[in-house]
Amino acid sequence: RRQGGAAGGLLGKIRARVRGRGSELKSGVPRYLIFNQHILSGYRVNFTVRDSLYSLFTLHNESINIWTHVFGFVLFLVLAVALCWAPHTMLDVTQAGANETSAKEGGVVPGVKIEAPVTWAATPDAAALYTEPILLLQKARKRLGKALHLDEAKDNLRKILKDVEINLFRGKEKSKLQPAMIKTNFKKTLKFLQKELKKRNVGKALHVDEVRGKLLELETQLRAIITKNFKVEYWPMFVYLVGAMFCMASSSMAHTFSICSPKANMWWWRIDYVGIAVMISTSFCPVVYYVFLNEVVWRNFYLVLILALGSLVATVSLMERFQRDDYRFYRAFLFIAFGMFSIIPLIHAFFLHWKDPIDSQAFNRIIGYELMMGAQYLGGALVYATQFPECAFPGKFDLFFNSHQVFHVAIVLAAYTHYIAVVEAIEWRYGGPSAGIAL
Ligand SMILES: [Zn+2]
Repeated sequence: RRQGGAAGGLLGKIRARVRGRGSELKSGVPRYLIFNQHILSGYRVNFTVRDSLYSLFTLHNESINIWTHVFGFVLFLVLAVALCWAPHTMLDVTQAGANETSAKEGGVVPGVKIEAPVTWAATPDAAALYTEPILLLQKARKRLGKALHLDEAKDNLRKILKDVEINLFRGKEKSKLQPAMIKTNFKKTLKFLQKELKKRNVGKALHVDEVRGKLLELETQLRAIITKNFKVEYWPMFVYLVGAMFCMASSSMAHTFSICSPKANMWWWRIDYVGIAVMISTSFCPVVYYVFLNEVVWRNFYLVLILALGSLVATVSLMERFQRDDYRFYRAFLFIAFGMFSIIPLIHAFFLHWKDPIDSQAFNRIIGYELMMGAQYLGGALVYATQFPECAFPGKFDLFFNSHQVFHVAIVLAAYTHYIAVVEAIEWRYGGPSAGIAL
């Protein structure tokens, strides 16, 4: 036997106070502590907040319930921290192609490197729209580097600048350009350079270095436009991860401290149910945001609607009647119904994207993960409501593998599956499969 220090002795005492309700009728388990009729032992009776904290490190009928969601909390915390290092733009405009550095150009523009061609799997046309002008500008600089006199390169430069202009402002993809993307500064510099190069004795009016400077300026401006307009918004994902963390934390705390008193019991379970409502509401947020990225009105409509429905569900779950054990079917039904609401925006999005083969391919992957998530949630809720297997074998699953524990594991799995679905959505909207978000 362990005869360790004071802590060991204390845990031993705490352990000894965990009771079964069949054997000790005299000091029976209070009614409010019985959260499941088929669990006969492992109850913590007359535990203070401190005892409950210590009981984290002993085995009782809530141990697995607590630790499954502590694990979930840590998982989503790690994912949230990892997200801080996720790339701000999936369109890679800073990574240099090592074999094509400025050294090759005779150090024309020190410190500026030539990018490797960008792959943007989801919308290659949109990527080309911005990367091609950059490559053209780099070509122009290269051309100028080899020329001894500006007049030699002049015609070539003009042609390249024309191409840049066509690419950015007159191409058939023009409709995809948002007005904000067409930066007046960029256009001004481009026009100035074009005008100057048109002049007859260009070498006298404009120095080679000046042209180089202007070309570099154009490139910098274009890169700024790209970085700004293809900036990945991560806040909806953070909203979800924080919501999941709140759900996991409130659940594990409820399972730890709800046994302290009838009042604590009532309030902790309310907080637990609010946690589920928060989890479902925040799950919607990134999906709606990324799927309706370009349909701002619909996006805001769904986000506001979800906020309203989430508040309603949270309010209902604060009602006293809602806490009772025999209301577990209604609880399961309410949360499932709220979760099922996600089908509506997804069907809507399906009709927006099904025509485009690349979009629909990515969208189908998202739907696949969301269906998997749905199956995990539904499976968990079904087990939760039917209280299987302990209903068939009362007392046999008091400590391990009872319905509530299965339900907890299903929630963590479903929440993680949803995270993957959102990562898919981000990659679809902002970049290729090398998006670099932790999975
Ligand atoms: Zn629970």
